[in-house]
Amino acid sequence: MTRIRVLLDCDGVLADFVGGYLGLLEDQLGIKATPEQITHFDIGASLGLSKEHSAKMKRAVGSCDGFARCLAVCPGAVFGVRAIEEVADVYIVTSPFGSNPTWAHDREHWLHANFGIKSNRVVHTSAKYLVRGDFLVDDKTDALPKWMDNNPDRRGHAVQWETPHNRLDGWLGVSTNNWAELLERVQRAERAA
Ligand SMILES: [Mg+2]
Repeated sequence: MTRIRVLLDCDGVLADFVGGYLGLLEDQLGIKATPEQITHFDIGASLGLSKEHSAKMKRAVGSCDGFARCLAVCPGAVFGVRAIEEVADVYIVTSPFGSNPTWAHDREHWLHANFGIKSNRVVHTSAKYLVRGDFLVDDKTDALPKWMDNNPDRRGHAVQWETPHNRLDGWLGVSTNNWAELLERVQRAERAA
């Protein structure tokens, strides 16, 4: 029997990128903010940062040594991924932060250290629509329709991982940040396969 393949995004689903960014924001610009203030995918725009400050933050993430290695794990993610792995093949499909030279390596180290996920299960690309799978779980709403178009037999299994920064995106498909609900959906797909 072919196992269900679940493609998981990393930032916003497994790794607290927003938390890491906000820590750097305080260091660099002395601005304190909370994740609830981030109501759009563009963090700088959500906070009303000037173009100069947004660019400075982009450079800061790009030059921060080991940024992707130091991010906190999203609450519940370790247990959630473990449960999904019981019933499906899990791959991480993650868009690299291009200007940070050690990003991909740091990410793979982090995924192995926190989740036991090996590097041959990690795909680094922003072209997530190229990756075949039965589910794509992503907090970036824009990634979902294109992936569905390129995985037409998987329609309905594009899952928006619900966060403060995507709640205004108007996504009408499945949206959750509950690992038990995701597991239930994967199990249902497995029974239907
Ligand atoms: Mg993400």
